[in-house]
Amino acid sequence: MQIRARITRLSLIAVALVGLVSGALAQPGAADRLYVMDCGHNAASDQSRWSPGVNVGKPIELSDNCYLIRHGGEWLLWDTGYPDAVAGNEVKTPVGTATRAKTLAAQLAEVGVKPSDVRFVAVSHTHGDHVGNVDLFPESTLLIQSAEVDWAFAPDKRPPFKLERPMRKLDGDLDVFGDGSVRIISTPGHTPGHQALLVHLPKTGWVVLSGDAVHFKDNWDHRRVPSMNTSAEQTQASFKRIADVMAEKHAQLWINHDERQSAAQKHSPEFYD
Ligand SMILES: [Zn+2]
Repeated sequence: MQIRARITRLSLIAVALVGLVSGALAQPGAADRLYVMDCGHNAASDQSRWSPGVNVGKPIELSDNCYLIRHGGEWLLWDTGYPDAVAGNEVKTPVGTATRAKTLAAQLAEVGVKPSDVRFVAVSHTHGDHVGNVDLFPESTLLIQSAEVDWAFAPDKRPPFKLERPMRKLDGDLDVFGDGSVRIISTPGHTPGHQALLVHLPKTGWVVLSGDAVHFKDNWDHRRVPSMNTSAEQTQASFKRIADVMAEKHAQLWINHDERQSAAQKHSPEFYD
C-alpha cells in the first residue's frame, strides 16, 4: 500500500514537472510570441528615393520596427533600429530626420528581457536604421549573411558595429531553431546580403518580416525598386521569392517601414501569439 502510494505521488510529481517544462517549450513548429517594438521614425523628405519617378518631392513618414520573438525559453531579436542614443534627439540622416520615442533597452526591460537573455540577434541588413543597437548585445549570436558582412566591412566604409563578436555568417536560408518556426530567407537586392524573416505563430499564423526588401505597401503592390538598391535584378528575384513564400504559407507581409501598417499593429508590451 505504502509503496503504491509513493509511486502515485512520484508519478504526480513527474506529471507536474513535465507540465512545467512543456509550458516553457514552444508548440512544435511555432514560436510562442512576437512583440513589435518601436525602434524609431524617419520624416523623409522625398518618397521617390524608394519609388523612382513616383511622388517626386513628396515627404513620407516611415516607421522603424524591431521584432522580439520568444521561442520556448529563448529569445531572438529581429533588427535593432536606430541607436538608442537617438532618443530625445532629432538626427539628420541621408533621407530625412530620425527620432526615437523610446529606447530598445527600455522596451526590453518592460517585458523583463535583459540583452544577455537574447540568444540570437538577426539583422535584415547593415543600414544604420537596422543595426543601431547591435553592440547592446555583445553576448548574442548575430545571424547575418556573409555577403552582407563583406560588403559592410569593406575597407572604405565605416564599420556599422563591432566585428569582434559572436556571429554566425550565413550563405542563404537558415531554420533558426531547427523546427521550421523561424526561418531566415535570403532576399538580396536592397543590399548584397539582405535577408527577411518567416515566422510561424500558433494563432497569428505565418508572417514575413520584410526588412527593407520593400519599404511601404504601394511599392510592394507595384514591385518598385528603390534607386539606392545594390541590384535591381536581385531585388526583383527577391520580390518573387517573398511572394512565393507568402502564397505557400498563406503568410502576411509585415513591412518594417510602412508607417500606416505599423500604426495599426499591437505594440510591445502587447504581443502576437
Ligand atoms: Zn531601413
